[in-house]
Amino acid sequence: MNIILMGLPGAGKGTQASEIVKKYPIPHISTGDMFRKAIREETDLGKEAKSYMDRGELVPDEVTVGIVKERLSEDDAKKGFLLDGFPRTIDQAEALNQIMDDLGREIEAVINIEVPEEELMNRLTGRRICEKCGTTYHLVFNPPKVEGVCDLDGGKLYQREDDNPETVSNRLEVNIKQSKPILEYYEDKNVLRNIDGAKDINDVTTDVINILDQLK
Ligand code: AMP
Repeated sequence: MNIILMGLPGAGKGTQASEIVKKYPIPHISTGDMFRKAIREETDLGKEAKSYMDRGELVPDEVTVGIVKERLSEDDAKKGFLLDGFPRTIDQAEALNQIMDDLGREIEAVINIEVPEEELMNRLTGRRICEKCGTTYHLVFNPPKVEGVCDLDGGKLYQREDDNPETVSNRLEVNIKQSKPILEYYEDKNVLRNIDGAKDINDVTTDVINILDQLK
């Protein structure tokens, strides 16, 4: 089961990824997570990736493709994998194709969790965080009992600088622009599966699982 998971920030990709790996014996391979781990461990890869990530840029393809190739060749990925955050460019998609060819495998489905931009704006700008304990709330989906106050320790809730509407809107635009050609690439290959991500989380999971069960 060789799958790619796609979705804009706030679409619920992380939640669905954890549900998928609970149900199927495949590893969740996120290039963003791999880079963050390398940075924490201060490896050469981490040092190189950090300069790009800090500027909000993509890490160069030759580096990114290299780590994905290595990771996909590991034992736990032999039965399949759930790729997240990769490919982000057409060159990466082509390189992935080559890697799959070399392994004698192919991408079976690209699950794209679709949520209207307006709903994503609501989701992403409604986040509030306790300044004392870091607990996360949401104005609409998970509000505190008393407005602006943490349920757990009474700490004041604040909004992260990068959760303001302008920054969020920019982040979404960049992501839409980046993902469009990738979605088209996989649509042409007849493996793109769009899922309505505006539904209740459990219903989204059911839809994802229905698609994946057909692949088995
Ligand atoms: P993410 O957690 O997927 O948003 O990734 C965080 C950062 O890691 C991105 O902003 C990039 O700098 C880097 N990154 C993750 N995946 C890739 C990729 N496929 N190609 C290039 N850079 C990536």
